[in-house]
Amino acid sequence: MTRRSASRPETGFANDRGANILAARGDFPVLDQVVGGKPLVYLDNAATTQKPRQVIERLCQYYERDNANVHRGVHELSERATWQYEQARELVRDFINAAEHEEVIFVRGTTEAINLVAQSYLRPRLVAGDEILITEMEHHSNIVPWQLVAAQTGAKLRVVPITDEGELVIDAFANMMSERTRLVAVSHVSNTLGTVNPVAEIVRICHHYGVPVLVDGAQAVGHMPVDMRAIGCDFYAFSGHKMYAPTGIGVLYGRRAILNGMPPWQGGGEMIRKVSFEHTDYADLPSRFEAGTPDIAGAIGLGAAIDYINGLGRENIAAREQELLALATEALQGQPGLEIIGRAPHKGAILSFVLQGVHPHDISTILDREGVAVRAGHHCTMPLMERLGIPGTTRASFAFYNRDEDVAALLRGLHEVREFFK
Ligand code: PLP
Repeated sequence: MTRRSASRPETGFANDRGANILAARGDFPVLDQVVGGKPLVYLDNAATTQKPRQVIERLCQYYERDNANVHRGVHELSERATWQYEQARELVRDFINAAEHEEVIFVRGTTEAINLVAQSYLRPRLVAGDEILITEMEHHSNIVPWQLVAAQTGAKLRVVPITDEGELVIDAFANMMSERTRLVAVSHVSNTLGTVNPVAEIVRICHHYGVPVLVDGAQAVGHMPVDMRAIGCDFYAFSGHKMYAPTGIGVLYGRRAILNGMPPWQGGGEMIRKVSFEHTDYADLPSRFEAGTPDIAGAIGLGAAIDYINGLGRENIAAREQELLALATEALQGQPGLEIIGRAPHKGAILSFVLQGVHPHDISTILDREGVAVRAGHHCTMPLMERLGIPGTTRASFAFYNRDEDVAALLRGLHEVREFFK
């Protein structure tokens, strides 16, 4: 493996803020610990990212100073909480370049966002024989909600294939389109293969046939610039916890005209204008889709994570993560008996692999003894595993705070795996 020196010039960084990125690891208290006698090497960032002190402190500040319910009180604390909650929405809007803040719906995460679209947007529009187009690389969160709505309506799922390299067969979007296609759902970045899909191009093709598109952005939004108006999609779903924010908060972006035509998904407080026993008038966007007390602290924490990411610059985060991906790919591809799963030319910093004769769970258990946290198994993409003819993979996934030494630790761990199974 070729190691780079600590004084490597930061040529990959787009601007001066890039210089801060290597130091920013110090913002993540959890990374500075010993597990099982070894320094922690956290390479499970696709499952969830760690949280910087700036986000943790914002949460504490909110609970210590400002905690109150939103939109309901006229007292000082409620006004503070409401202002911060709505400010977080505006931060999200700006971050993803949505046209209006009403297009940003706070939900629990990607999974809830997709279920909301399946039940509120799609279900009333489906009749038996209609089709929903997904792809072979989708996470269960972008498969099962569509299966549920298909079972409720008699609609069918059709599946766009991938190549052996792990790229979508783009022509299939046009070829598999029919007059019965009602929605296309596709991931922006595959959580197992790392493939970055050309979502703007896919949206263009689908819109040519008049079919709306939902993009699952869970693995994209904290790692690269993401622009709703450039992508042009109708819905975009993501989770805060995969972008340095707390668990329990996420976003459904929807185009205003489409959201406006959708019935509420859940009923309760917040989402109403007027209620009588006979009839309810619903609130306008975005409240109509935010029934009940929301995750106020979570939304504020998400706003803090966005401030944090903006401070570093997403282009710099992407550049650093590409460096780590290149370093790890180069290191792993020469290993005997090791096959990288997902070899698309354009990838996020996600590296899945199989090692001949060793089950992924055994690899991750031995790596854990070395302090290296990776994920092993099907990664909630069982149909993809079946397509690839493997039971699972070991997955190392990087964030900008990983060091070159973390790749070296992974290699040392794999050496231990080999020794164990010799
Ligand atoms: N989609 C993708 C591509 C993911 O990687 C994940 C989580 O791993 C999800 C959806 C589901 O995200 P959440 O569990 O935060 O709802």
